[in-house]
Amino acid sequence: MEFDRAGMNALMDIVARPELVFVRGEGSWIEDHNGKRYMDFIQGWAVNSLGHCPPAVRRALEEQAGLMINPSPAYFNRPAMELAKRITGASCFDRVFFANSGAEANEGAIKLARKWGQLNRNGAFKIITMVNGFHGRTLATMSASGKAGWDTLFAPQVPGFPKAVLNDLESVKAQINDETVAIMLEPVQGEGGVMPATREFMQGLRALADEHGLLLIVDEVQTGYGRTGTMFAYEQYDIQPDIMTLGKGIGGGVPLAALCARESVSCFAYGDQGGTYNGNPLMTAVGVAVFDELMADGFLEGVRARATQLSEGLQALSAKWGLQGERGTGLLRALVLDRDDGPAIVKAAMARDPEGLLLNAPRPNLLRFMPALNVTEEEVAWTLARLDELLAEVRK
Ligand SMILES: *Cc1c(COP(=O)(O)O)cnc(C)c1O
Repeated sequence: MEFDRAGMNALMDIVARPELVFVRGEGSWIEDHNGKRYMDFIQGWAVNSLGHCPPAVRRALEEQAGLMINPSPAYFNRPAMELAKRITGASCFDRVFFANSGAEANEGAIKLARKWGQLNRNGAFKIITMVNGFHGRTLATMSASGKAGWDTLFAPQVPGFPKAVLNDLESVKAQINDETVAIMLEPVQGEGGVMPATREFMQGLRALADEHGLLLIVDEVQTGYGRTGTMFAYEQYDIQPDIMTLGKGIGGGVPLAALCARESVSCFAYGDQGGTYNGNPLMTAVGVAVFDELMADGFLEGVRARATQLSEGLQALSAKWGLQGERGTGLLRALVLDRDDGPAIVKAAMARDPEGLLLNAPRPNLLRFMPALNVTEEEVAWTLARLDELLAEVRK
C-alpha cells in the first residue's frame, strides 16, 4: 500500500518517525500499512498495559460511549467515582484528581505541594528532584526533570527544582533548606535508562522528609499500575508516600492520568485545580476496566513470572554476548550493551522479515523492554530468540 506522504507533511515534524503507518494491533502484535507484523515490546511507551485493542478496553469504551461521554467535570460521574474508590482502596492515598496526561498529573502534584507549603510551611515551595529524572514536557515538569540540555531549552525555566542524585541520600540532604517543601522522584527512572531507586535510598528519603516536614512525591506514571510486578512500585519499598501520580498504563492506551494524595495533603481550595476533560467518564470507565483486569486473580503473579523469564533470558544473552548485564523492576527492564549499537539493533529489529520486533534504545548502549503486562511466555521466548539472532546479525 502507498505511504501517505501528504499526510506525513501535514503533521508537525517533532520526531524522526519511520516511513510506515501502523493500522491495527492485537495483544503483543502490531501491523503496518503493508500488512507486516511486529512483536511490540514498546507498547506505546509502557502505555498499553493489556496490549493492543484489549477486549476489556473496547467493551468499556463501547458501553460508556452509549451512556455518557461528558457531563462536565463540575458534576459527578459514575466511572470517575468508581475508579477513585478502586485506587484509594488499593493504595495509601485518600483522594484522587484525574488528569489527561502524566505531565498534567505532575503539574497538579507540584501545585498541590506548593499550596501545602503556603498553608503549612510558611510558603516553602522548592521541590528537590533528581538528575536524569523525567516528569513530562510542560514548562514546570520540564524544569522538574533532570534531563541534560532541558535547563536551557525554552528558557527561562520554572524556578524551584534543585537537583539531587538518585541513590545518593547526602546529595538530597545538601539541597534541603527553609524553602524546601517536597522531594519528588520516579521509583525507577524510566526515560533516564531504567535506573531503580534502592530500598535504602527510598526509605532514607521517607525518613528525611519526616524529619524536615517535607512531602514525598512519587511519580509512578511509568512504574504504576502493575508495571513493576506490584500495583504500585512504592509498595516494594515498604514506605508510604504523601503524593503519587499515575499515567501511561492506567488508561491501557487512552489518555488518562491521576494525582493521588493523602487526606492531610489534599488542600486544593475550590478553583485551584480543574480542567475541561478531567475525570471524563469515557476515559475513567476504561481506567476501571484496566484496574479490574490487573486485580484479577493471578494477573500480577503473571507479570512477575514473565519479568523473571525476561530477566533470566536477558542475563543469558548478556553472558553469551559479553554484554554488561540487565536491570529493572518487573516488566520495565533494560539490557546493557558493551558498545553503542543499541540504535542499530533497534533498526535491524524493525526491519527483520517476515516479522519485525519493536524495541527502544533510550541510550545508545541500552535496550529497553516494556511489553504488555499480559505478554505470554511464548511471546517473551520468541523475543529473546530474535534478540539473539539480531545480535549475531548486527555484530557479524
Ligand atoms: C511518560 C512520563 C511522564 C509524562 O507523561 P505524559 O503522559 O507523556 O505527559 C511523566 N513521568 C514519567 C515518569 C513518565 O515516564
